[in-house]
Amino acid sequence: MRSVLAFLILAAAAVAADKPPPNVVFIFSDDHAYQAVSAYGHPLRLNETPNIDRIAKGGMRLDRCLVPNSICGPSRACVLTGKYNHANGFYNNSNSKFDGTQTTFPKLLQKAGYQTAMIGKWHLISDPTGFDHWHILPGQGIYYNPPMIKNGVRAKETGYVTDVITDRSLEWLKGRDKNKPFLLMCQHKAPHREWAPALRHLGHDKDRQYPEPDTLFDDYAGRGKAEKNQDMTLANTFTELDAKLKYPAGMTDAEKAEWDKYYGPRNEAFTKAKLSGKELVRWRYNRYLHDYLGCIRAVDEGVGKVLDYLDKEGLSDNTIVVYAADQGFYLGEHGWFDKRWIFEESLRTPCLIRWPGVTKPGSTSGAITSVIDFAPTFLAAAGVKLPDDLHGRDMTPVLKGETPKDWRKSFYYHYYEYPGPHSVAKHYGVVTNRFKLVRFYEKEFDYWELFDREKDPKELTSVWGKPEYAAAQKELEAELARLRAELKVPDPDPAETELRKR
Ligand code: CA
Repeated sequence: MRSVLAFLILAAAAVAADKPPPNVVFIFSDDHAYQAVSAYGHPLRLNETPNIDRIAKGGMRLDRCLVPNSICGPSRACVLTGKYNHANGFYNNSNSKFDGTQTTFPKLLQKAGYQTAMIGKWHLISDPTGFDHWHILPGQGIYYNPPMIKNGVRAKETGYVTDVITDRSLEWLKGRDKNKPFLLMCQHKAPHREWAPALRHLGHDKDRQYPEPDTLFDDYAGRGKAEKNQDMTLANTFTELDAKLKYPAGMTDAEKAEWDKYYGPRNEAFTKAKLSGKELVRWRYNRYLHDYLGCIRAVDEGVGKVLDYLDKEGLSDNTIVVYAADQGFYLGEHGWFDKRWIFEESLRTPCLIRWPGVTKPGSTSGAITSVIDFAPTFLAAAGVKLPDDLHGRDMTPVLKGETPKDWRKSFYYHYYEYPGPHSVAKHYGVVTNRFKLVRFYEKEFDYWELFDREKDPKELTSVWGKPEYAAAQKELEAELARLRAELKVPDPDPAETELRKR
């Protein structure tokens, strides 16, 4: 009996050893709000994302995946390094440049025998490193007929950017060495501002009047100077380009003609109506959602094509598929678009992970996870020893539905870009499942806020300094200090001159 058992154990070990390391397909979009992923079940049911939802149905939906710094470049640097921005050196979009000589997870996977590719939006200023193949948009990229850089060589592409990125990703998959495991990072520009949909998706919503968030006309009472000072409202910040009163860059005359068929009569009616005040905000909100959700349609179709390819090739069983965005986004909540804040809509990003044999189909987790956890998770899956200076943690137990007792119960956040686009003041803070303690630390602002999300889920009234919250506040202050010390956050911030070093 004992020998039979020993044989079975050995046989099982041999099977485990023979199983090739999993492939990783990392589909990452830009500014895709979880409110606009139907798997998350938004109460206003803004849209349907049937293909993205396939990942949730076959795997796990993470309900509290947080970003360390809610803005494009910095979040990407966190993904690649598994570290906070003060450790990877990419603090903000205005003047940081990614140091490509540092250790990243694609480099380590490449060293472990993976084929690695990065296709789409990169946005880290320096050229990608750690990839056998890279084909990126320069900077933010444009929606129509985008110029791209393929392994260092510039070339203009024809077509709609999301389709181009999907097609180039599929081409790379088809042409890869089938004897090696692979990492594909397929990173969409969409649905980033200025939210220009594909021509085939114009009118996708049949002129739906969207239900409004109840904070669309927020007056920021109950919060401080930073919230009143920002420049990201539909009322004041929305441009003619945002409103599609101008063409997006890169379109051909034929594309403009097609574009005009949809927008022309609607823009004419808008101009005639001479809207102002709340009616103007309402019009902008509906235009914004038509365009933003239209962009997501093409992303969702692209996800479907990649999943179909994996199925067809018999790769799905041994491939980790992730769909996530670089941060959350406001869809009119607080009257805003854009991101940047520690507040829920921008702090939380959608994250769906399908990993057959690890994630239970249709499962969910409320554990606090983060985009810094991707690097250690992928490395662990590939059997690569984790560097000991990572801030993120291997999520595998969470994905199995077995969140360890010592899993993080609090999370540190730090936003650095001020002055800058949208004028959101620098702030840092600590987030738990119930509370957020926030400090706007620049001289011009210099105040604290505390939100109790259990009583105030929309984060409308700071309770900082209220006697009934004294104990919670003290505990959170200590936790914030502990996290800042543990993460070795520089205090004060590095000088702007330091950040500008290229
Ligand atoms: Ca972004």
